[in-house]
Amino acid sequence: MTVTEHLAQLNGKPAFSIEILPPLKGANINEIFDSLNPIMEFDPAFINVTYHREEFEYRELDNGLWQKRIIRKRPGTVGICAAIQNKFKVDTVAHVLCGGFTQEETENLLIDLNFLGINNVVALRGDAVKSEIYFNAKKEGHQYASQLVKQINNQNQGIYLDETLENKTKTNFCVGVAGYPEKHFESPNLEADIAYLKEKVDNGASYITTQLFYDNQKFFDFVDKCRKAGITVPIIPGLKPFATKRQLNIIPQRFHVDIPLDLANEVVKADSKEAVREIGTEWMITQSKELMDAGFNLIHYYTMGNNKAVCKLANTLL
Ligand code: FAD
Repeated sequence: MTVTEHLAQLNGKPAFSIEILPPLKGANINEIFDSLNPIMEFDPAFINVTYHREEFEYRELDNGLWQKRIIRKRPGTVGICAAIQNKFKVDTVAHVLCGGFTQEETENLLIDLNFLGINNVVALRGDAVKSEIYFNAKKEGHQYASQLVKQINNQNQGIYLDETLENKTKTNFCVGVAGYPEKHFESPNLEADIAYLKEKVDNGASYITTQLFYDNQKFFDFVDKCRKAGITVPIIPGLKPFATKRQLNIIPQRFHVDIPLDLANEVVKADSKEAVREIGTEWMITQSKELMDAGFNLIHYYTMGNNKAVCKLANTLL
């Protein structure tokens, strides 16, 4: 089923989805299966698998010169989606990036996904590679996610890059895009960001999943602004269980979101790792309850390996 079909059949019932990262290169698929096993009992609606773009690494050669190498630390998004669907019979959502891809490489990736029966994608721009400040599209690639959405939507209509193809199968991708309740960090203001978000929807995105947030009011305000801007597609809130004291600084730095004062104060006072995890899990449960009471019955959890918190939440809410 597609994500929008999942949303349509909720009928007020609570549901959740999770997001996982491919493991570091060299790992076995059983690591993924083992970490998912406890969560599968709670029947997630679907599982997203992130995509990780290339990184540049410099290695010193024997002759003293430095060699620039392109490495991929977490490959396997497509294979993991297929393996999870096959093993657990649950829908998966493959993240697809502009960064590092030409349009033709994207087309071929979409063909692979289609052949494997993976009909859900999230279309994202991706960030700049770590050694660069600004995002640079690959030659003949896309600069913005809205352009990627358009390409996927074209393929759904049987429009391929090579117009001379004889058999132009129409794909059937349900396309999600990212939204930012606290605005995307590069955007001059939230209004401009929402205008570009609308462009992604106008180009064929069927729903929005938000960046993680810890203050529900920011999400509710964002939804209001989106609706006023004419965005009518479902907006799925994204939450991440807070788990370590270091995240007080890492989360704002990496995701460009605020940690509310009450949560930060509680975490600072906590006297053990377990206490911090407990505070983070309880905060997420309270947030989830309020979101569900407001009609957002499907919540997306960025578990990133912290499956215990989501299991506790599922036990409490479902
Ligand atoms: P875009 O929608 O293209 O927006 C990027 C910036 O450009 C914004 O500031 C926007 O306002 C601006 N903009 C958009 N269109 C235009 C235009 N026409 N003219 C001028 N400015 C414009 N990253 C990964 O690498 N892998 C993942 O798997 C991944 N998954 C994610 C899942 C979710 C739900 C979210 C919220 C983020 C995810 N990210 C992932 C991070 C994401 O790639 C970054 O936040 C990235 O910087 C922006 O991606 P985007 O798709 O929102 O970009």
